[in-house]
Amino acid sequence: MVVQVSRLTPAAEVVRLEDKAAGLDGVIVIHSTRLGPGAGGCRFWHYPDLAAASADAFRLAEGMSYKNAMAGLPFGGAKAVLRRPAGDFDREALFRAFGRAVAALGGSYVTAEDVGTSVADMRSVAAETRHVSGIEADARRAGGDPSPWTAQGVFDAMAAGAAHAFGSSLKGLTVAVQGTGNVGAELCRRLADAGAELVIADVSPDRRDRLEKILGARVVDVADIHRVEADIFAPCALGGALTPESVGAMKARLVCGGANNQLATPEVAELMVKRGIAYVPDYVANAGGIISVSAEYLGENRAHVVARVAQIGPRVAALLEEAAGCRLSPALVADRMAERLISGVDRVAA
Ligand code: NAD
Repeated sequence: MVVQVSRLTPAAEVVRLEDKAAGLDGVIVIHSTRLGPGAGGCRFWHYPDLAAASADAFRLAEGMSYKNAMAGLPFGGAKAVLRRPAGDFDREALFRAFGRAVAALGGSYVTAEDVGTSVADMRSVAAETRHVSGIEADARRAGGDPSPWTAQGVFDAMAAGAAHAFGSSLKGLTVAVQGTGNVGAELCRRLADAGAELVIADVSPDRRDRLEKILGARVVDVADIHRVEADIFAPCALGGALTPESVGAMKARLVCGGANNQLATPEVAELMVKRGIAYVPDYVANAGGIISVSAEYLGENRAHVVARVAQIGPRVAALLEEAAGCRLSPALVADRMAERLISGVDRVAA
């Protein structure tokens, strides 16, 4: 096993992980520990090379610093990105090797589930280290699968966004959901309960067709989901969904979803302002999961999670109002708020 630490910027570290026998190949980026240990999930995905995995890890870790600060959590930002081996591999051995690498960092990084990983994988990690969260099964305590909490926060953020953009509730609005995985599917259930119409797309037919049957959602091709007739576009797949092309073709007037790093480039946020599309910054909307994960890690109870997730809607309402008032993109306004929190200029009531 190789665990090699190098400094990326004065604040950020990259930790190279390699265990050939276990098939472990990836990085942990610890972006900031200014507010506490770096916390962020472990992504397990296909990357063409280590450079692509590292670049993704850096952007995701930076997003976690902003997300944790905005949610008022005592954590910095970090992320693990592991390259999924081609062919067969021993999943438990791989995640136990990852767990040993996390243990070697002595608590400066706290991991959890993310795209491509599951609660079962985090249990394998927990066999090697206590610096992992998102596995608690006791309903009275905080924690467990973070996805329903993420979906709840996104739903509340979307409701606040709808009140801002349309002056209405979500009832009767059409929401185009890109990606119906753990978060997207939970979000769709809440939207259907609230009386919204659903249009969905997913590269995995199984995940998509199940929701079509249960919720009566309309299925479209993944290439078309951003440009269907809809009031709201909800990116819930991987990052980079908001490009000049996708935003240019978009009919929705509100964007709010669970995916991390939705903006392909920062300029896309300006384009949305120009096109009159209200944007709920991803890390403000999707903080529910890390709120749950961090409460489990800190030994807090479920009431803490409920209270903190309930702050997401009002936070989004205030952010959209402030951005509209100064004619800036909500993404820029949120980044400035988060940077002030990380540098200690401001504090969030937690
Ligand atoms: P997931 O892997 O369960 O779901 C992702 C879904 O997107 C899958 O069903 C996949 O088939 C689909 N998909 C991939 N590429 C697609 C494309 N081009 N078009 C349409 N569908 C596509 O992951 P998840 O846990 O639901 O997370 C989704 C997003 O939310 C990720 O960006 C993740 O980082 C972010 N997020 C998740 C949580 C959480 O609690 N799980 C918390 C915060 C942020």
